[in-house]
Amino acid sequence: AKRRAPNSYQFFGTEMNAQLQERLVLETQLRYALERNELQLHYQPRVDANSGKILGAEALIRWQNPQLGFVSPVKFIPIAEANGLIIPIGEWVLRTACNQNRLWKEAGLPPLRVAVNLSARQLAQPNLVDLVAQILAETNLSVDDLELEVTESLIMENVEHSIKVLQELHEMGITLALDDFGTGFSSLNYLRRFPIDILKIDRSFVNNVVVNQEDAAVTNTIINLAKDLNLHITAEGVETQEQFEYLKIKGCDEIQGYYFSKPLPSSAITELLQKNHQS
Ligand code: C2E
Ligand code: CA
Ligand code: CA
Ligand code: CA
Repeated sequence: AKRRAPNSYQFFGTEMNAQLQERLVLETQLRYALERNELQLHYQPRVDANSGKILGAEALIRWQNPQLGFVSPVKFIPIAEANGLIIPIGEWVLRTACNQNRLWKEAGLPPLRVAVNLSARQLAQPNLVDLVAQILAETNLSVDDLELEVTESLIMENVEHSIKVLQELHEMGITLALDDFGTGFSSLNYLRRFPIDILKIDRSFVNNVVVNQEDAAVTNTIINLAKDLNLHITAEGVETQEQFEYLKIKGCDEIQGYYFSKPLPSSAITELLQKNHQS
């Protein structure tokens, strides 16, 4: 045992080093990602549970770097949050998504709502409401064409300020969705105060909704809660027909997930939209 301690310490040290090293490379590369055009948006359709019509799509960021390959947003968004890069990146996401929606409109497709994820830093930035208004004006879109997704934990970072900003966006007429619902810790008391239109059931519940009684119970509770509060309900991460049928019967309004479509580049989504429109 005496000999193992220093060894494992050394191993731990090397491991730490490798992790720091990776993070450093990631941060450095991320600084240039925007100007080098390494970022892209994919879109995942949100479908009306009853009619099967595509009502909108969520914009999801993708980063392909020559040195690092594909880096998941789960990995780089928190880093961008920490070093502030999320501000220019977030602005790029908003503008790109709105611009894409304008192109869909110009192609003669029925009106769609494009959903953009907001991060905590963006919600804290002083000019967010003006920025959103400006981008809508630039892209010739109306407030009905945009949806913003926020999470409970994001709102809870600075409750009073967040509610104030969300209220302004809501008064403008922008649709607000509470993302990953059920995974945060905010009390129902707060939920009443959030000026939101949509609850998105987190995919961790949807995952096992047909096989696990507890997850089904949580999902049913969320759906009933949303109905009592007059909120629209979207289920994310729907992968199978069984999950889809279950959620539809329980009264989910919209579904999003691999069952209908993975997030895809804009060209592929445009094709899908055209087919969906004709059918
Ligand atoms: P999210 O907002 O909860 O997005 C849903 C995630 O679930 C996406 O992962 C999507 O690809 C994945 N997903 C959708 N349907 C299914 C399904 O049926 N099965 C499974 N297993 N997964 C499904 P993705 O694209 O890797 O994004 C991960 C997270 O990164 C997002 O979670 C969001 O929190 C963040 N993110 C992505 N794009 C942006 C962005 O532009 N801005 C900000 N602030 N965050 C972003
Ligand atoms: Ca989301
Ligand atoms: Ca989500
Ligand atoms: Ca999620």
